[in-house]
Amino acid sequence: MKKKSWKSIPEGGIITTPGNSLKFKTGDWKTHYPEWNKEKCIQCLRCHFLCPEGAIKVKNGKVVGIDLDYCKGCGICADECPVKAIVMKKVGENGSD
Ligand code: SF4
Ligand code: SF4
Repeated sequence: MKKKSWKSIPEGGIITTPGNSLKFKTGDWKTHYPEWNKEKCIQCLRCHFLCPEGAIKVKNGKVVGIDLDYCKGCGICADECPVKAIVMKKVGENGSD
């Protein structure tokens, strides 16, 4: 059967499996990743509030790590950290994925 060209496909789309975003590790395509230094961190939570992906993990009101499965490596957290407790590294350095 001949496939339809994009011109004959109706506009719009449907999501056949709603709520499936957790299945897709959207951090896969980052080129840089944040490295968090627990000792330097003063727990101001600035990175948590500014991360556009919600990738800064917080437990009991404190930063406990970074979810690299969903971090996209934008570097906002590193730029905004007042004490440089987060630095950006290139993917592939120090055994990162
Ligand atoms: S690099 Fe960007 S996406 Fe990743 S944790 Fe920092 S602010 Fe969030
Ligand atoms: S912005 Fe920096 S000091 Fe503040 S919670 Fe995040 S890592 Fe810690």
